[in-house]
Amino acid sequence: MTGGPELLERVLQLQSPLFSGIDPTLLTEWLDASELRCLAGEATVLSADQANSQTFLVIAGRLLVTLQQGDAAPLATIGPGECVGEVSTLSLGETTAWVRCEQTSELLVIERQELLAWAQQSHQLALNLLQLMGERLRRSNLHARGAQSLNQQLQTRALSDALTGALNRHWLDQHLEALRAYPELALLMVDIDHFKAINDTHGHSCGDAVLRAVATTLLHSLRPSDALVRLGGEEFLVICQREASPAAAEGLGERLRQTVQQLQVDDLPPVTVSIGVALRTPGEAWEAQLERADTALYRAKRGGRNRVELG
Ligand code: GH3
Ligand code: MG
Ligand code: MG
Repeated sequence: MTGGPELLERVLQLQSPLFSGIDPTLLTEWLDASELRCLAGEATVLSADQANSQTFLVIAGRLLVTLQQGDAAPLATIGPGECVGEVSTLSLGETTAWVRCEQTSELLVIERQELLAWAQQSHQLALNLLQLMGERLRRSNLHARGAQSLNQQLQTRALSDALTGALNRHWLDQHLEALRAYPELALLMVDIDHFKAINDTHGHSCGDAVLRAVATTLLHSLRPSDALVRLGGEEFLVICQREASPAAAEGLGERLRQTVQQLQVDDLPPVTVSIGVALRTPGEAWEAQLERADTALYRAKRGGRNRVELG
């Protein structure tokens, strides 16, 4: 290979982690055994899912690592002194990403058998390689963790209602089987009174603010084991696991009704809710219980609103 003392000088200046602490005499031998390759911008260095036996140390220029071929957003950029391909070189596995030149780049191409021979010759190089691999593993774990938390966020968003933060019907569908299995569920159907009039008189965005405020108040009044679901429009369902007696469930409904009545949303007149309560009777199906809560809500409306009825 060509390069001689000039290449050695350049490599030393790079302070590459791969060659950190390596004796310059040894390094000169190694550089002589490697190829210096100049690639144009956009040239492909590594293709995903291919066997690879070469490690590339960037001497000049810059490489882009992407998970897909072409102009995909880069996962990482590799600058002078850094290397790519060492994981697939050492593991004899296939490459996991695409690497291309961002600009004209000079790369030192190190063959697998050379790299292994160097590691046997020099403990320091073996240690450097271990450190590089460790760093790669750490980054890959961090990346996986980031992707996982993004996934969780997306899932939470998909299961909750964007306006009020309450759970949505999709959540209800997903948990229906589990909910059917609870013997002592109390259901409270909550509907805002004369909500259409709030919209008509004060505007839709005021209506939205009322919806948010009512949902937040309900959420704060419930226990973590309870669930608040926005069924649609201004109708919410409270699913409560622990109110074992009709009196206790009705008591919860009354507490919720009073809390909402005390709400002050902007300059609006007090907002009220009507609530229908149904406690599960032995062997009762979910649908039947829901229907009873709905009928009780209807009675509360007919009875003058701002009240709780037990179904
Ligand atoms: P009642 O006391 O009998 O419950 O009467 P109501 O006016 O509350 O009920 P109605 O079903 O007549 O009207 C509900 C209104 O809720 C009609 C609809 O335009 C409005 N609405 C539904 N979803 C939203 C929303 O996301 N934001 C706002 N601002 N209004 C909504
Ligand atoms: Mg209503
Ligand atoms: Mg309604």
